[in-house]
Amino acid sequence: MQLLQLHAVDQQILETEQGLRECREELSELSDGVLSLEDGLEQLLSRLQDLRLEARHGERAVEDKHVALIRVQGRVSNVQNERQYSAATLEADLLKSDLRTLENQVLDKLQLVEDTDGRRKEMESTLEEALEQAGPRRKEMAAQQKELEDALAIQNDRRENLALRMEKRALGLYDRIRAGKSEVALAPITDEGVCGYCHTFVTMQQRMEVEQLDRLISCEGCGVILYPSNLAV
Ligand SMILES: [Zn+2]
Repeated sequence: MQLLQLHAVDQQILETEQGLRECREELSELSDGVLSLEDGLEQLLSRLQDLRLEARHGERAVEDKHVALIRVQGRVSNVQNERQYSAATLEADLLKSDLRTLENQVLDKLQLVEDTDGRRKEMESTLEEALEQAGPRRKEMAAQQKELEDALAIQNDRRENLALRMEKRALGLYDRIRAGKSEVALAPITDEGVCGYCHTFVTMQQRMEVEQLDRLISCEGCGVILYPSNLAV
């Protein structure tokens, strides 16, 4: 009877531990999702800052080039001879072409800033949504985790108390079976006279001994401790 009680508590402990594992997994998945969004947003913001800086530099270069062009154009109207005239117009043409290139680069950069800023807005609302969704679920899971931890503490206490009152040899055998590959350490002999776990045949002699409850009999097939089917916790 003590072994059966212990077995029942051990099954509860296994179930609670499984629930706790699932709970912790979901909690860590929830924070992983939010964390990766936050990381992505941070990267995007820093990229946006760089792009804006580059655009400002470009605008300044355009202004400088413009000033230079006006200066050269002033020179064109004040030339003394043909040679100075063609030198000044050539320089002005080069500056104009440079200016066009720079202006196009700035426009491209500004377009990139705008696109990136659009992506930032999208990402911010995705993050907001994720936080909104994760918040209540996280609270729920944290409460469930607390509940399971409390239940596990109680179950472990109960197990300890039961184990203390048990005969050491019986407890040792039981623990050894459970430490093996099987979570099941006890099985009833069925009405057909076989082990309730692995269905190995149990001899009449063994069956009588089991029913007398004098000593512990293990199944010859799987090693679990056998008990009469009419015995129940
Ligand atoms: Zn068996």
